[in-house]
Amino acid sequence: MRCTKCNNPAIIKIGYANLYLCNKHFIEWFENRIEKTIDKYHMLDGTKKLAIAVSGGKDSTTLLHVMNNIALKKGIDLVGITIDLGIDMGKKYSSNSVDFAVKNYEMLGIKYKIIKIKEEYGFTIDEARFKIRRPVCSTCGLTKRYVLEKAAKEEGADTLATGHNLNDISQYVLTGYYNGDILSLARLSPVSPAENGYIKKIKPLFLSSEKETMTYAIVKQIPFLYQSCPHTFRVGGETQDKIRRSIEEMEDKIPGFMVSLVQNFEDKFRPLMADIPKLTLGKCKICGMPTNNNRDICSFCATRLKLTVKAHENPT
Ligand code: SF4
Ligand code: ZN
Ligand code: ZN
Repeated sequence: MRCTKCNNPAIIKIGYANLYLCNKHFIEWFENRIEKTIDKYHMLDGTKKLAIAVSGGKDSTTLLHVMNNIALKKGIDLVGITIDLGIDMGKKYSSNSVDFAVKNYEMLGIKYKIIKIKEEYGFTIDEARFKIRRPVCSTCGLTKRYVLEKAAKEEGADTLATGHNLNDISQYVLTGYYNGDILSLARLSPVSPAENGYIKKIKPLFLSSEKETMTYAIVKQIPFLYQSCPHTFRVGGETQDKIRRSIEEMEDKIPGFMVSLVQNFEDKFRPLMADIPKLTLGKCKICGMPTNNNRDICSFCATRLKLTVKAHENPT
């Protein structure tokens, strides 16, 4: 196949846009698309300092490279944030993730902060898996959200960007419908404004598929970690995994399925959910961060207490 724009050999087919693209034109198209998405959804309006969550995988390292160019153009300061979750399971997953994140920060000359949760909070995600009943990915997600929010604020950032891609968001949309979880759907936005003590969050890759971010990372020779988390098989349980696989099969049959699903949800359905009452927020008595439903202690501190107290009572 030949590139639609220049007739050189094509490396990727963008089915829904009816395009075949060569290396050069794919990079141009991909970067433009993210920039347009950022502008359309006003993601960087008012942003002075942007924190980027970098795990070392293909999506977050791609995000870091693309946002570095955009931030330079717009005169926005950048800081990278990487969490060492303490996931090892004999595979050194977290230390490998941190190594790849640091490689990218240094390659681009971006300031960064690494937070080791064992040192800062006294537990690892591996310990959480065995010491509390909650599914490990749920504890991990809670930890990442909390630590990223806190670290971004401490670094003086007013906005936090994460690498959620089109496949992730498609899965959240359909899972939200499947579970009738209107509150989650109402909150599922590419831009969550700064409010109630939280900083602004953005998802610049929410219209970019996993195939596109992977291709970008490979073509640009971005160093990233291929290894999967050893807890991956626990992500969201079987139903969510099946929903994700089904969406990807639909995308093969109907090119553009994911973009239509997510874009129509965001542009046409989510605005109708504006009146859904938001959670009432309180202030955590332990750490001072916001709490949901006016609780005295935030979910992270409650989980951390369980983990650290149990470790003390039962050091095995
Ligand atoms: Fe965390 Fe689960 Fe993702 Fe592993 S698979 S990084 S435990 S959320
Ligand atoms: Zn071309
Ligand atoms: Zn707290």
